[in-house]
Amino acid sequence: MKTILFSLMLICTLVISCNSQNNTNNNMEEIKSPHYSNTDTNQVVVPNAEWKNLLSTEVYHVAREKGTERPYTSKFESSKEIGTYYCAVCGNPLFKSDTKFESGCGWPSFYQPLTKSSIIYTPDNTHGMKRTEVQCGRCHSHLGHVFNDGPLPTGLRYCINGVVLDFKKADEAKKRYDDKH
Ligand SMILES: [Zn+2]
Repeated sequence: MKTILFSLMLICTLVISCNSQNNTNNNMEEIKSPHYSNTDTNQVVVPNAEWKNLLSTEVYHVAREKGTERPYTSKFESSKEIGTYYCAVCGNPLFKSDTKFESGCGWPSFYQPLTKSSIIYTPDNTHGMKRTEVQCGRCHSHLGHVFNDGPLPTGLRYCINGVVLDFKKADEAKKRYDDKH
């Protein structure tokens, strides 16, 4: 069974690399979770017992148990690719790459969410600190925290675990347009 799964993943990876300018990993995400969508704005309310079967151990730990990935381990931490970051659990659009900045804190950092419905905020007083937790506005998965030491224009730093992010590249036309404007 594991061998079959591994072969399937390998085939998916090959297909994605051959079509890198298109957003072709939708199918893979749909296999991962039936609740995944980049366009559906309906709230996703799913018990953790079901998420546990749908998500990888790493994603489940951060998203549903409020875990934290080790700093400097995310491939997105220093990535400068142009595109959109989605919730890896439900596909909700969260951040655009042009609001990403290098904070040096070890986790992917952004100064502004994509829309108001991207994020919800909850006070977090654990570990002897007063922090504000940020969760996905659609599936309420834990994403990270927001701090007041970010750059202008917002002055905010959304410090996000890369493991709960799903990145899709902007298409070539969009990139060319952005370069000229
Ligand atoms: Zn989500």
